[in-house]
Amino acid sequence: MPQILDGNRVRDQILSELKPRVAALAAHFRPPGLAVVLAGHDAGSEIYVRNKVRACQDLGIRSETLTPPDSVTTEELLGMVAELNARPEVDGILVQLPLPRQVEAKRVVAAIAPAKDVDGLHPCNIGNLVAGMPGPRACTPAGILELLKRHGIRIAGQRAVVVGRSDIVGKPVAFLLLHEHATVTMCHSRTTDLAAVCRQADILVAAIGRAAMITGEYLTPGVTVIDVGMNRLNDRGEVARIFRNSPQKLAAFEKNGSVLVGDVDPFDVAEKAAAYSPVPGGVGPLTIAMLMANTVAAAERGAGAC
Ligand code: NAP
Repeated sequence: MPQILDGNRVRDQILSELKPRVAALAAHFRPPGLAVVLAGHDAGSEIYVRNKVRACQDLGIRSETLTPPDSVTTEELLGMVAELNARPEVDGILVQLPLPRQVEAKRVVAAIAPAKDVDGLHPCNIGNLVAGMPGPRACTPAGILELLKRHGIRIAGQRAVVVGRSDIVGKPVAFLLLHEHATVTMCHSRTTDLAAVCRQADILVAAIGRAAMITGEYLTPGVTVIDVGMNRLNDRGEVARIFRNSPQKLAAFEKNGSVLVGDVDPFDVAEKAAAYSPVPGGVGPLTIAMLMANTVAAAERGAGAC
């Protein structure tokens, strides 16, 4: 039986380790503060932000959400970010992506004070990551490293293949694995013979955004698979095909109108991998946990505690 890399358990561990640190800050300084900018009405973003706010409440982190309208301009968002940068009680600033189309998202992210960039996406923090210097790391990639390490998966000396080169997942996770002494190959939509490259992997990270694209032919027996994909299936035929007519999944589809699947075929991975992160319940829970960790660390730096 493959080892299941249990993101819920690791999230709970991380959050319980943060609790005394938040309590110490609240007792000797002030509670950590996170400001979230949620521009417009993107349904997915609204759910993510709600979950982030709830996680803050559970931990005792003070949170506030700014909700500019869909029509917000780049200049207006730059003004909001500048105000948040100037407020000492705001330790972390998160600008929820995607931003409305007319906004220059990279300018807005680059305007966040690097010390408050709890999403780890500011160019300075990407530079810190590449150079192996301290600084907030992007949350999902940092969560992936926690998932591997806390399950005792060896990284040093292993061949890691990362499929996907986004700024949010693929690139930062590749650098984090490199710093842990893996031999890293980064793949993307122009990689030739992707399946053959993936079969070289001891650790395979799929961050593609294509439902169940990584099938058995991409997996060498004994591989560790991290499935970052979060793809919502709205088509019954696709649910039936990917989940091999599973009565449970079809029932879930009838009930909810959609089913979540990762970038990796859920049956093939269970057959071939030595260890894998399921979807849901693998990488997903860790993103918010690492956001909380980055916010607490920013507050501790602000308090002069580290
Ligand atoms: P993204 O920005 O769309 O990047 C996708 C990457 O996959 C790109 O680098 C793209 O290559 C590559 N790709 C697309 N089709 C490919 C193919 N046929 N063969 C090889 N590579 C291919 O996506 P993302 O933001 O990194 O997210 C990836 C997935 O992770 C999505 O399902 C997303 O929902 C999920 N995600 C989950 C979490 C979480 O908390 N669990 C967080 C973030 C993202 P090119 O660069 O050549 O176009």
